Amino acid sequence: MASSSVLSAGEAIARIAYLTSDVVVSVQPSLSTDSEFSRFLHQYAANKASSLICKGVPEVQSVRHNADPLLSVYQPVRNGKITTVTTSSNILVKSIPHLYRLAQYPVVIHVSLHPAGYPDYGDITSIRNVGFTFLQSTSLQEAQDVALTAHALAIRSGKGVIHFFDVANSKSDQPISHESRELVTKMIDTDLAKQYQGTKSEDSSLYVSEGRPQVRNIGLSGDHAAPTSNGSHSPTARASGDASPRDPSSASSSSSDRKNSSSVVSEAESATTVDSQAKAVSSEDIDFICDSIWSQIRSHTGRKYSAFNYTGPANAEAALFLFGSDPGLFAAEFESATQADFFRHVGLITPVLYRPWLAERLNEALPSSVKKLAVLEQVRRRTTKWGPVLLDLLMSLKASGAQQTPTIVGYQLGYLEYTTITQALSGIFQNLLSSSPIQNLEVGAHEGPKGTMSGQQKEFELSQPKLENAYMKILDQLFGERLLVANALRSKDAGVHDPAMKASPEYGFGSLLARKEHRQRFIGEVQTVAKTRDFTTDTPQKWLSQWALAATDATQANKLAPEVIQRLSTDGSPAAYKLLSSKGLFYKESQWLIGSDAWAYDLGNSGVHHVLASGENVNMLIVDSTPYSERAAQDAARRKKDIGLYAMNFGNAYVASVAVYSSYTQVLQAMLEAEAFDGPSVVMAYLPHNREDDNPLTVLQETKKSVDLGYWPLYRWDPKAAEKGEEAFKLDSERIKQELQEFLRRDNHMSQLMRRHPTFHANLSESYGSEVRKVQKRKAKDAYEALLEGLQGAPMTVLFASDNGNAENLAKRLGRRGKARGLKSIVMAMDDYPLEDLGNEINIVLITATAGQGEFPQNGRNFWDGVKNGTDLDLVNVSFTVFALGDSHYWPRKEDKHYYNKPGKDLFARLAALGGKSLVDCGLGDDQDPDGYQTGYREWEPKLWDVLGVGNVEGLPDEPPPITNEDIKAASNFLRGTIAEGLQDESTGAISAADQQLTKFHGTYMQDDRDLRDERKAQGLEPAYSFMIRCRLPGGVATAQQWQQMDAIATHLGNETMKLTTRQTFQFHGVVKGKLKPAMQGINAALMTTIAACGDVNRNVMCSSLPELSELHRETHECAKKISDHLLPSTTAYHEIWLKDENDKNVQVAGDAVQDFEPMYGPTYLPRKFKITIAIPPHNDTDVYAHDIGLIAIKGEDGKLQGFNLLAGGGMGVTHNMKKTYPQVGRMFGYVDKDTVHVACEKIMFVQRDNGNRQNRKHARLKYTIDDMGLDVFKAEVEKLWGEKFGEPKQFDFDSNIDTFGWQKDEKGMHHFTMFIENGRIEDTADFPMKTGLKEIAKVHKGDFRLTGNQHLILSNISSEDLDTMKSLLKQYKLDNTNFSALRLSSSACVALPTCGLAMAESERYLPELITKLEDVVEENGLRQDSIVMRMTGCPNGCARPWLAEVAFVGKAYGAYNMYLGGGYHGQRLNKLYRSSIKEEEILGIMRPLLKRYAVEREEGERLGDFVVRIGMIKATREGRDFHEDVS
Ligand code: SF4
Repeated sequence: MASSSVLSAGEAIARIAYLTSDVVVSVQPSLSTDSEFSRFLHQYAANKASSLICKGVPEVQSVRHNADPLLSVYQPVRNGKITTVTTSSNILVKSIPHLYRLAQYPVVIHVSLHPAGYPDYGDITSIRNVGFTFLQSTSLQEAQDVALTAHALAIRSGKGVIHFFDVANSKSDQPISHESRELVTKMIDTDLAKQYQGTKSEDSSLYVSEGRPQVRNIGLSGDHAAPTSNGSHSPTARASGDASPRDPSSASSSSSDRKNSSSVVSEAESATTVDSQAKAVSSEDIDFICDSIWSQIRSHTGRKYSAFNYTGPANAEAALFLFGSDPGLFAAEFESATQADFFRHVGLITPVLYRPWLAERLNEALPSSVKKLAVLEQVRRRTTKWGPVLLDLLMSLKASGAQQTPTIVGYQLGYLEYTTITQALSGIFQNLLSSSPIQNLEVGAHEGPKGTMSGQQKEFELSQPKLENAYMKILDQLFGERLLVANALRSKDAGVHDPAMKASPEYGFGSLLARKEHRQRFIGEVQTVAKTRDFTTDTPQKWLSQWALAATDATQANKLAPEVIQRLSTDGSPAAYKLLSSKGLFYKESQWLIGSDAWAYDLGNSGVHHVLASGENVNMLIVDSTPYSERAAQDAARRKKDIGLYAMNFGNAYVASVAVYSSYTQVLQAMLEAEAFDGPSVVMAYLPHNREDDNPLTVLQETKKSVDLGYWPLYRWDPKAAEKGEEAFKLDSERIKQELQEFLRRDNHMSQLMRRHPTFHANLSESYGSEVRKVQKRKAKDAYEALLEGLQGAPMTVLFASDNGNAENLAKRLGRRGKARGLKSIVMAMDDYPLEDLGNEINIVLITATAGQGEFPQNGRNFWDGVKNGTDLDLVNVSFTVFALGDSHYWPRKEDKHYYNKPGKDLFARLAALGGKSLVDCGLGDDQDPDGYQTGYREWEPKLWDVLGVGNVEGLPDEPPPITNEDIKAASNFLRGTIAEGLQDESTGAISAADQQLTKFHGTYMQDDRDLRDERKAQGLEPAYSFMIRCRLPGGVATAQQWQQMDAIATHLGNETMKLTTRQTFQFHGVVKGKLKPAMQGINAALMTTIAACGDVNRNVMCSSLPELSELHRETHECAKKISDHLLPSTTAYHEIWLKDENDKNVQVAGDAVQDFEPMYGPTYLPRKFKITIAIPPHNDTDVYAHDIGLIAIKGEDGKLQGFNLLAGGGMGVTHNMKKTYPQVGRMFGYVDKDTVHVACEKIMFVQRDNGNRQNRKHARLKYTIDDMGLDVFKAEVEKLWGEKFGEPKQFDFDSNIDTFGWQKDEKGMHHFTMFIENGRIEDTADFPMKTGLKEIAKVHKGDFRLTGNQHLILSNISSEDLDTMKSLLKQYKLDNTNFSALRLSSSACVALPTCGLAMAESERYLPELITKLEDVVEENGLRQDSIVMRMTGCPNGCARPWLAEVAFVGKAYGAYNMYLGGGYHGQRLNKLYRSSIKEEEILGIMRPLLKRYAVEREEGERLGDFVVRIGMIKATREGRDFHEDVS
């Protein structure tokens, strides 16, 4: 807050408010739209600017203006916080109940009158009697001075002050200087402020009187000590401003008289008995305090203020009293008046202190010469004949006792154009000066300025936040033209203009009732007219009678409506025309009231009550936006009502609680049920956001937390369900919150339900929280200690913080090795450790990895916060050491180098500072060392044993080798393990670690939802486990029937979405353990399988989708199937575990003695996964170079498939920083005939089976086996086994590795449409119900669906006959849109967060956003049609084949990616690392100029991947083994 110039009233006021408050409540149109004040307030708060009266930094709370904002004031004021509100005037009238109570506190409310330029001063006059003091300012300088006055006055009087102003009045003012901090400090009586800050009021209910009397119980010492105009401090002299024009000589004496007669405590009293002399604050007190404040301002600045501001001649005979906009303009007119003007020599008077209204001060201000007074009131809605200000003036002037009081003439002031003001003033004064003036003349345009809305008006317009459109769109989709939103902001209305009013439930309800009556009348009219002979033809009567009978039944009426309308239209009679003029009423509308969580606060809530109590058939959709993470931060006074519970308690309403980001299907279901319900319905819709412009990912994550943890349960409640023999309550999510649980317990329906389904109880989450977690920590550690009790030896506690498992494994190993040396060791995660025990440790070893920007991994953050901030930790008796794991090359910039192993180093330093004794220096493990972190660790560990005295222990037992995947496979009895038993264990959502390896072979992985991981951990819950299921779908071809079956599985058993994978198959996510078996059975019922979709076997065989050569595709696809079937494992475990139910006695032949035989794989299967793909040139859309075996289809001269060129040894998986791992492209083995290709593949697999590395899974893929053995040796081995030789490779050409979008016709005349499915995710959103669309298409489609290797979809084999139907369906569901940038069309991302356990960063959810941010550059540089292959993965495992992209981003840490450049456009060349660990800003910083340069400098037809190599930005990677070379 440097003292520079102030440009706007909002800034001036915001600064004063900030300097003089503990809390500033900033009322804003929305949290993402600033008010006049909020930008400055947030800026000060962000800069941590200090205030003059609060210890730290004032708190700035933003509240939306439709969320009952003044509720936020109670809590701080009751806690003795000096609180200020900045707001527009549109909240005032509806906040009257609050204002009455807040008037008793020293609260200042700065009100910007709305709309600027022509505000309604009625907002001020309507609240003039709420007990606040009202001050007005009319210029920039005044805004600052009056703001200061308001704060000084509030503190000195102990009462609330409202300061109002029209911002437009000062917009052309010259900038002013900041009021100095010294002056502000002087003006604010900081002693009084402190006294107030020390008082706390009882936390009384909002519904009873505050019991706080209107008193100045903290004295007037400040006022009495106020300096007089000569600067001295005089307790008795009234510090008056200027002499009044009415009686200049009497000012000081009359003032001191007033002082003596006032109820103000005397100087002696105030000096000695501050608190005991509480007295009610009188108008005179306020007057006195104001005077003294203004006197101070005057003595410091020379600027004069008084209760009424008069300008003009001291002997004016006529004057104008203005209560409206722009007094400056009027004054200027008066000054420049000519002899001819009626308004020459007149005065202008405006109130500065509007309430209390002091007659005496008015009389002082107004020259006694004034005989005629025009009163202009800018009040839009006049409810009384006489304006409120006119009445004030009449009372004051008549009561003044003066012999001759002026004639007062009232005017209603409308909007005055600059150009018409002279004319308007002439009219005003002509009337005023006439012998019989007319009262209540209107001046100016009542409706305000014509033309466009001012910027400020727009800002303050209530608008539906964009995010909330999600629900509106669903309503639209469901009810289309029948939808009527009764309180829509832009609805037609009977003269209601205030958007806030329109948005209220009362308004909407009223309009719905009117609508209902209207339709009822219409039905009556139809019934009458149906009996007449007024129609030309006979048909209308029949249809009308039929319709009248069904008019109240939505389905029937809406079915008949078009028929009736059609009959009437052709009738042509006047009776028919009359009915047609209201034809909309033939339809029964779906009527909705839409509300926000503003309805959950007291004021809005009464409207909801009103609707429920009416029992009318009205639907309410109420959008709640409180994020899960904010739920606890809500202050008690602001706590919202749970409208759902309220409505259920009411008993007559249908209630649903839904969340579009959790279950789209449930939203649809609830809306349909609500509409069908005969009575009030409430759909509580969740859409958590902090700001209206939050991105959808944040909304999604917040929704998931809320739903998963029961804060926002999904349910539907139908009080009439029992009549139909159904359950009243249907829980659609897993957990419910305590309050709801209590309600259900009370409810009869629910108790019956619970009795019938005792397991339902288990779903009801108990109230859990940090205490639970704490108790768990304690229990865990105590139990461990009890176990160690009997052991000898020194204790050693090992704590770890780990995110990828290395630190954890190291810690566990250290613990084991310590135990072997006789130490009593405990190993646990740092965050699981009870910190209060730290001072009692003897030896403690801490092992931590490094996350993000040198931060602690997730499971060590709380521990570190505790250690870092703990003031009472005493470690003098503790010996400690730390081993840190990091990567010295992780931060390429020199200034970031200190992040290397920062957590470990910081921890070491902090423990030493707390008095701990170091056992060994901090060990540093560096990923860049030859053996990674192990290099440093190998040196460090022996030192630790030495210092602990166990360095030379004899006869140490050998460490048992860790259990490997090979052991698990071998011991699994052909992939059975204990999967079947694990599935039956209901105590956990997980399966055992060994079974997790085995289920992969069955096509399913256990995962946990990482969006929920931290929150669930904090709640003491196990992670949200669920399973991913992957189908085996050779060549990616599915029938329409299969599509529908897959859709049903996703909807009913998964997370309502499907993923089309980069390997052309369906993948389901979020399948919980209990639904795993039904899902597997569903997939098999669709004649698909999941066996060997994952695991160390040959997986799904891919095949180019190639729509335009159907016959060649069919033949090749046959081959893909043949290879796939040929290489399937033989185990019967799959069938046994998934496909038989528990009563099937035939499963176990001869007890447990089932012995499978795997002729191809043997009991340990392959060393690693094995992938085969086929590409049909010229399309390399399956990335043929990226797989263990890549087959390039060769077409014979007859156009038929002849055979394949075979590539082997491609593979994508890499580990960051492990140079021994690299991606590799397949190497050419030669040509094989189509009839023997499956055998060639088998033999390659066998050589891999027998030679692949089974010790090191990171070196087990075929690519390493070939590189280790040498290409020729490997190939010779294959040929030996096969007994045949590979032929010379045939000529082929690829032109790209992406899909060809749009329509194509094949050689047989069939049509195929390749549609764009962003990153393969099939889901419904409110904007794009893609999943529903595809399901509807599948219902009528006669051809098939082809999944592409780039995660898109081909609607295949459509006959010309069906073409139009399919086109119109595609259009209806917006699936025909391929008009995206070529960059987007060529992009691809893997699943990553939240389900993939290996993901280090976002991918599928982030790549679309990143592309959006690049698209403007793409457009600007004319690259919209230029395909650039861009891929992203969440980790280096490479599922989306990033290493073959021209540009790739591979997740390194949350929000950070390694960037690779230079891949070949046809997928033929690997790319190379260009930058490490860069974030979005840096990515854009590289990509934007690169794209520009590419657009300008590329050669004809040159691809970006080649361009970056040519210009020397990156070296070309020749093959996998030089992938890590020449990295800059
Ligand atoms: S690339 Fe990594 S993050 Fe992405 S899906 Fe594969 S394993 Fe998961």
